[in-house]
Amino acid sequence: MLVSITSTTPDATDLGYLLHKHPDRVRSVNVGFGKAHVFYPESGPERCTATLLVDVDPIALSRRGRRSAAQTLEPYVNDRPYVASSMLSVALGRVYGTAMAGTCEARPELVDRELELEIELPVLPARGGEDVVRRLFEPLGYDVACSAIALDDQFPDWGDSRYLSVTLSGVSPIRRALEHLYVLLPVLDDRKHYWIGEEEIEKLLRRGGDWLAAHPEVEIITRRYLRFGSFAREALAQLSEGMEDTDAADEVQDMAEAVLEKPLSLNEQRLHAVADAVVAAGGGRVVDLGCGEGRFIERLLAEASVSHVLGMDVSIGALERAEKRLRLDEMSERRRERVALIQGALTYTDDRIQGFDVATVIEVIEHVDVERLDVLSRVLFGHAAPSTVIVTTPNVEYNVHFEQLGPSSPRHRDHRFEWTRSQFQEWAAAIGSEYGYRAEFLPIGPSGEVTGPPTQMAIFHRAQKASS
Ligand code: SAH
Repeated sequence: MLVSITSTTPDATDLGYLLHKHPDRVRSVNVGFGKAHVFYPESGPERCTATLLVDVDPIALSRRGRRSAAQTLEPYVNDRPYVASSMLSVALGRVYGTAMAGTCEARPELVDRELELEIELPVLPARGGEDVVRRLFEPLGYDVACSAIALDDQFPDWGDSRYLSVTLSGVSPIRRALEHLYVLLPVLDDRKHYWIGEEEIEKLLRRGGDWLAAHPEVEIITRRYLRFGSFAREALAQLSEGMEDTDAADEVQDMAEAVLEKPLSLNEQRLHAVADAVVAAGGGRVVDLGCGEGRFIERLLAEASVSHVLGMDVSIGALERAEKRLRLDEMSERRRERVALIQGALTYTDDRIQGFDVATVIEVIEHVDVERLDVLSRVLFGHAAPSTVIVTTPNVEYNVHFEQLGPSSPRHRDHRFEWTRSQFQEWAAAIGSEYGYRAEFLPIGPSGEVTGPPTQMAIFHRAQKASS
């Protein structure tokens, strides 16, 4: 397996200083599962290439793994010696660790210098193919050239292998480019060869701290890098802590929450449960208040009994993401007429949300200050006054089941409160008597015997036309 890094910024031989490897010599380092060699196929003032070749010893590798009961040849005969896998990333860390840390005693001024770089990965295993390679590297400013590698040159009919030959071109300080490779190669390979522990979070944060939080695919990257939900959640939470832009930090927090709930796929169960309740109420014209990125709207458009959907959210950023998710600009005219998005807040009287059959308020009320809930109730039940209102909110009693959550932490840092079942029911009862609604309660997600379900849902039916 190998990776070649070429600088074409004169004096290109500075690469030797930056990588701490002299262009005239071959350096070899033992990396546990084999040997890593660095050499320079080309070294001139205009163009200088450093190649890292890792010679994996499959036998050493197979001995490192846990002994499996199955006696197969797989541990000895596999793609690991040949492809740019996570092992290449480990080798990069060992061989170019000093460069990645931004240390260059001989020429410190070079460390942050932007260089024109070409990075060649002749055999890259890429789960998700070219699309994922582009989604990972293009936002970081690289031009990506990919070509498929045939399974066997002799038998073109067999088609392409799962490997790509990839060239990345971009302008970046060398340390940054090394970090990109270090973090993204295992993400593309998506098959880690060693146990993932706490220190992996630390590595990811150290190598990705500056650029990862702003990367549009931060979720895939952390999820695949860390593999297990609990680690990904913690990494996302830590990343958001360090972020100054609150919108972006909120987005990363949203992901942390999604990762937390992922094992249950609670989000999906919630969307199904609410959609079922909308259909049971007869569908018709539906307004989704606090629609976020439009996941529920997408789900509703699949229901024939739903004639029209209006999504409202206070966040422009969320609405923009909803527009993309729903591909509003590509929708057929007929479908396009069924859906609209508007910006608005549930804490202001708004005529645009009147005249609907059903309103859904999914995981929104807990984002509103308790003191403002009365206003929200008046706007929703008093003024908009649809026949049916469906509200969901976390059941705080269930939080003890989320092992990764501190004893009094909310599931999302923007939650102003999280209610027990009786708190929610009291709130609903008070609304019922004030605005003339009858509430029924349904659990969402797997109920704990003592704690009840992770999400609670109230379905309000308007008993009579509200008088105010
Ligand atoms: N209903 C969506 C999003 C839940 S996240 C889902 O289940 O996926 C909460 C959303 O409520 C966020 O998008 C946030 O912008 C929005 N929100 C918070 N306060 C609001 C308010 N006062 N009025 C309207 N939307 C609000």
